Parts: sequence; C-alpha cells; structure tokens
Amino acid sequence: MRITRRRALASLGIGAPAALLAHPAGHLAIAAYRDRGSIPAPPAGFTEDASRLETIAVETHVVPARGTEDALLALFSQARAAGRPIAIAGARHTMGGQTSASGALVVDTSEIRAMSLDEGRNVLTVGSGARWSQVLAYLDPLGRSVGVMQGYSSFSVGGSLGANVHGWQHDRPPIASSAESLRIMLADGRVVRTDRSENRQLFALVIGGYGLFGVVLNVELRVVDNALYSAKRWNALADEYVDLFERRVRADPAVRMAYGRISVSPKRFLTEALLTAYSAEPALHGNIPSLRPTKSSAIERAIFRGSEESGYGKELRWQIESAFGGEAGSGLSRNQILDEPAALFENRDPQKTDILQEYFVPPSSFASLLSRMRQILPKYPADLLNVTVRTVLRDDDSFLRYADGPMFALVLLFCIPRTAEADRQMVPLTRELVDAAISLGGRYYLPYRLHATPEQLARAYPQAQAFFEAKRTWDPDLLFRNHFFEKYGAS
Ligand SMILES: Cc1cc2nc3c(=O)[nH]c(=O)nc-3n(C[C@H](O)[C@H](O)[C@H](O)COP(=O)(O)OP(=O)(O)OC[C@H]3O[C@@H](n4cnc5c(N)ncnc54)[C@H](O)[C@@H]3O)c2cc1C
Repeated sequence: MRITRRRALASLGIGAPAALLAHPAGHLAIAAYRDRGSIPAPPAGFTEDASRLETIAVETHVVPARGTEDALLALFSQARAAGRPIAIAGARHTMGGQTSASGALVVDTSEIRAMSLDEGRNVLTVGSGARWSQVLAYLDPLGRSVGVMQGYSSFSVGGSLGANVHGWQHDRPPIASSAESLRIMLADGRVVRTDRSENRQLFALVIGGYGLFGVVLNVELRVVDNALYSAKRWNALADEYVDLFERRVRADPAVRMAYGRISVSPKRFLTEALLTAYSAEPALHGNIPSLRPTKSSAIERAIFRGSEESGYGKELRWQIESAFGGEAGSGLSRNQILDEPAALFENRDPQKTDILQEYFVPPSSFASLLSRMRQILPKYPADLLNVTVRTVLRDDDSFLRYADGPMFALVLLFCIPRTAEADRQMVPLTRELVDAAISLGGRYYLPYRLHATPEQLARAYPQAQAFFEAKRTWDPDLLFRNHFFEKYGAS
C-alpha cells in the first residue's frame, strides 16, 4: 500500500464536516475490530505453507550452519533407508505444497545464512536460507542493495531462486539474471558449483526448479548500489496501462523500480489503473538514511483488510490510493522500500486465507487479458482483493522459464474461506484464467495452488516434459519430491 498515515487520515477528510467522516471512519473502525485474529501455528509434526489450506505431516530438520554438508548427507541416508522423500523449505511462501510431500523429511534451510560481500566485484555470497530482510540489513551499511527480489522481504534466497522470482525491477529479467553461481548438494551427496559455463544445464534447471534437483547451499548474487528514490504516481484507464508504462517508465532511464495496480472496486472493476515509479535522486546519493525496521501501520492495514467482502471498502481503498498511494516511497532508500515484511497485510483470520495467482502475457496482449478477466472473474464467488501489475524482461537463464520475452504480469490476490470446498471452487476459475493467458501467448506462475491440469502445464510450459526428464537424470531415485512434482512430473 505504502501510503503515509498522515495522508491517509487527510484523505478521510480531516477538516471536513463530521458527517462526511462518519462512514469511512466507522468502516475502518469495524475493519480494525474484525482484524484481531492471529494465525495459529500448525501442530507439532505438521507443516503448512502460505496457503494455510493443508496441514501436512512431515518431519522437519533445521540444518545447522556448521557442518551443513554432513548433516544433509546424514539426512539423505536416513531418507533412503526409510524410503522417504526429501522436500526443501525456505520461508514456505509457496502455496501448493512445493515445500512438502507426504511423509517427507523436510530440509529447513533457515540456519544456512552466512554472507560476505566482494566489494570489488559487487558480488554477495549468501547462504540459501537467508531472508531478504537479513540480506538488506547486511548490505545497507555497505551501500549496496539487492538487484532483483520480490515486493516483500520475508522470503529466503533459496526459495526465491527455486521459483525464479521477479519484483518491481521492471527493467530486469527474473532473479536468475542476478545469480553468478550456485553451490548445490545433489541427490548422490556430491557438492557441485554451477554457473553459466560450469554445469550450465544444472544452473538453468535449479533456478525455477522448485527444489527438485538438490539443496542449494549458497549463491553468488550480483548486487547494485543503494540509492535514495523519489516516487511518482499516475492514474490511467487500465486498457491504456501499457502505453502509460512505455512513456513514463520504459522511456525514462532514471526510473529504477515500478509497479501498477488495477482497481477491484465494483464501480471500476479492472478498468482503472495506477502506476507508481521510483527514480533515483543522484544529488542525494551521499546522504542515504540507514535502514530501519518497517513499522506496521494500523490504518494502512484497516484500509486494506477493510476491502474484504466490501464493495464500499474496495472503493474507499481505491480512492485513498489514487489520491495518495506511493508517495511514502519518496525520500526513502531502495533498501527501505524493499524491506517490507509480507506479514504487514496478511490475513490473520483463522477461518480465511489469502491466495495469490499470477499470469504473464506479452505487452500486446495485456488489454485482452484484462478483458477476459472482466468476463471470467465475476462468475465465481472468490473475493478479489487486489491486482498488481509487474513487468519482467526476457529470461535467458532458467529452464522452466515463464518469460520468453518481455512480459506484463497481473498478480491477483483472493480472500477465500479456509476450507477444502472454497479451494475446490477456485479450480474452474483458475483453469479458465490459465487458458485465457495461454491463448494470449502467455503463461501462469507456478509457486501457487496446483489447480492447473497437467495438460495446461504442458501447454503453458512446452519445456516441462524435458524438465521432468532432466529431473530423472540428476535424481534417478527421486529423492527430492514435493506436491508440485507429484502432480505434474511423477508419471
Ligand atoms: C504474500 C506473497 C507475496 C509474493 N510476492 C511475490 C513477488 O512479488 N514476486 C514473485 O516472483 N513471487 C512472489 N511470491 C511468491 C514467492 O516469491 C515464492 O513463493 C518464493 O518461492 C517464496 O520464497 P520462500 O523462501 O518462501 O520459498 P519456499 O516456498 O520455501 O520454496 C520455494 C521453492 O524453492 C525450493 N527451495 C527452497 N529453498 C531451497 C534451497 N536451498 N535449495 C533448493 N531448493 C530450494 C522449495 O523446495 C520450493 O519448491 C509471493 C508469495 C507470497 C505468499
């Protein structure tokens, strides 16, 4: 959201007659009152991912920072002896069991987080379990920042490579492009280094490979300079978003990061857009404030959560964001903007959950995808809370890539009851959207629910069959397994 508290209060009409304030203030007070839940931890011996839709029995092993390789070798032997699979978990923000399998021994990488920066090469060597928040805290005093990451900082480096993520870095391919090399422990216990010349095929398979080829131990990532950014925001018709983006962002070399939002308010459903762009302020380079912890804002949260199951709340949020959103990024460092935890806006209601989906299309198909979504989404009961727009350049590095060329992406966030029935109701919706994206020359993103059919995966990712064949070459006993593999690659 990124709107300042002062601005949000102003938008609610401070200085306006009290009667005008009553409705929005009352709405937000009720939203805040309802938003008092907390997410219960899964019982001991079970795990959940970010979907919170399944509780799966697993045996989790936190791999120690010292003696990592010996601990992993022992775990691999234990799994083989017991005929159990190994699944690998970073921050578990995937949503379809990509970090678990029934009966699995789960490698928890969170302790593998050592870091060192080669300042001459601008290359960070980092343990795969490090969270981006830890990486940003390490890089900040050194004047550096992460080159490519998601919009939030709660994710692990290894999990981000496992999905080959992308974020607000509109002028970059996915994270694969910032990886210089990986050290990985394979199923047979060998530790190998991979980069674009050494074991190149493995490098491509592991990035976006959803933990199916081995445990990434550490990674060399190319970093960029930290800088102070100023933010600008434009409103547009959603169908004209690509044109606006080309003029305001693509054509302006000062812009360093950008994202868009599309309205989900019933009055303007997928017809209006906001574009926010961050530009570096060269004059202020020498005076960058140090990274400080991001504070959660009760009012920002109430504005966001108050849009749940409320057309009024969605319209109120749109009006506030149209008027003031994005401005809080002005005068902040790149590191500060990137260091936002996913928990700020997460659904804390034990009875409900928020589910993500993402669809990529070439720029020329963006308006058509929106038009298809306007037809498809109202047919289903799921409550669409948010739509974000991302752009990503062509990915020349990963095997199971979603960006064969420059892509515009629509990220959809739904709020659904935390029940098997609500999950089932998402299946036909997802399949229609996947078909729409494929028919427009696009793809869908793989870290979320596994609702697409195997046939849809094969159409969206023509390289999928070769990907799963390569899996069997590198891991013939299928030691590394998860629900993604079991659904799409096991037969
Ligand atoms: C609220 C929210 C916002 C999101 N925003 C974005 C976004 O802006 N852009 C984007 O691209 N994605 C986004 N995602 C998706 C997210 O980036 C991916 O799910 C990513 O994989 C999460 O990182 P993680 O550490 O939680 O990975 P995990 O879920 O822990 O793991 C992801 C995959 O990588 C594998 N893996 C993890 N660690 C290793 C390792 N050390 N070695 C080998 N394999 C490993 C796992 O087995 C798994 O298959 C978002 C998800 C959520 C829930």
